[in-house]
Amino acid sequence: MRTFTQSTKLAHVRYDVRGPILTEAQRLEAEGHRILKLNIGNPAPFGFEAPEAILVDMIRNLPTAQGYSDSRGIFSARTAVSQYYQSHGIMDIGVDDVFIGNGVSEMITMVLQALVDNGDEILVPAPDYPLWTGAVALSGGTPVHYVCDEENDWNPDLEHIRSLITDRTKALVLINPNNPTGAVYSREIVEGIVQIAREHDLILLSDEIYEKILFDGAVHHHTATFAGDDVLTFTFSGLSKAYRVCGFRSGWVAVSGPKRRAENLLEGLTLLANMRMCANVPAQHAIQTALGGYQSITDLILPGGRLKEQRDLAHRMLNDMPGVSCRQARGALYLFPRLDPEVYRIDDDETFVIELLREKKILVTHGTGFNWIAPDHFRLVTLPGVDVLEEALDRIGDFLADWRER
Ligand code: PLP
Repeated sequence: MRTFTQSTKLAHVRYDVRGPILTEAQRLEAEGHRILKLNIGNPAPFGFEAPEAILVDMIRNLPTAQGYSDSRGIFSARTAVSQYYQSHGIMDIGVDDVFIGNGVSEMITMVLQALVDNGDEILVPAPDYPLWTGAVALSGGTPVHYVCDEENDWNPDLEHIRSLITDRTKALVLINPNNPTGAVYSREIVEGIVQIAREHDLILLSDEIYEKILFDGAVHHHTATFAGDDVLTFTFSGLSKAYRVCGFRSGWVAVSGPKRRAENLLEGLTLLANMRMCANVPAQHAIQTALGGYQSITDLILPGGRLKEQRDLAHRMLNDMPGVSCRQARGALYLFPRLDPEVYRIDDDETFVIELLREKKILVTHGTGFNWIAPDHFRLVTLPGVDVLEEALDRIGDFLADWRER
């Protein structure tokens, strides 16, 4: 009898953030264990609430949000996104250049499906948010990783990027601020990447979902600002993180640059948007209010703000552990510490995090799950309040002490 197997398209697709470690965590929970989940950047379970205006707006619009919308999104949301970028100096993002999606996730897969042919090479950072690598593979492309430099605060190395470009390279992905490293790229780096794209006629795919979660005066530079009218740029962002409504599934992609040269590609993107009808309509109503309202995220990231205090505590505690070094995150919601291979012998970092989970009931994600090149990092989210975070890090410290003794 025939067995029913997954398609060969999935052969190189991985998404370890919710992979076997999560299954193991669910098994332990079913046995009655309480698991501290430091694996997913989901603010709501940690007591973060969305700005009230967003909720009020969504509730008020619920009765009129029962039907499908335009597949690119409702007019008010697309106008708000377009105005947002125009107010940041990116003048050529008009209402019709914005596509609203069920989270940034949907737009990432949709743009890659529209863009990538079998064998196309797409430059993706290592480490990356693994949806990028997975979605490139799913669309038939080859992810080619440019390795970011931990010694240089996890910035990309422009010469290294250049060295990876071939005739098949079609696009380059930037994640800025970066998940998992927390790097926020300087103006020079962003401009340098844009210049590489210009020289090689590459498309830029700029994931800026953490653009408002910045610490210690870090400044975020929109890639599209420097791309002008000659580098086609897709800018991705959404409400999940800065507005703390991951569950609403509300994000967008905005297209800028030489759109006339991309008419065919944009028709393809529109086709895919049409095929899935539209994004969740009630959540689209939140976009205008979110972008135009009080930016309460600021209160969380400034000195005295929860996100900053938690990041500082976790950074300090990690660096106090023998053989652990951790670059400070200048943005986003994560830390990505390094475990010195001289101190910790780890052959398989997924096994390492599964053992941490079983022994200490702490769930983190292994570094290779972010396409990192060696089994010597893990990522934790800095969302729990300081008490919970402190307890979690104490337990991680105990686990590491045992591991050193092995
Ligand atoms: N891009 C990055 C870098 C992310 O970290 C995430 C979620 O963690 C996403 C995209 C997906 O976000 P969304 O909730 O909008 O689908």
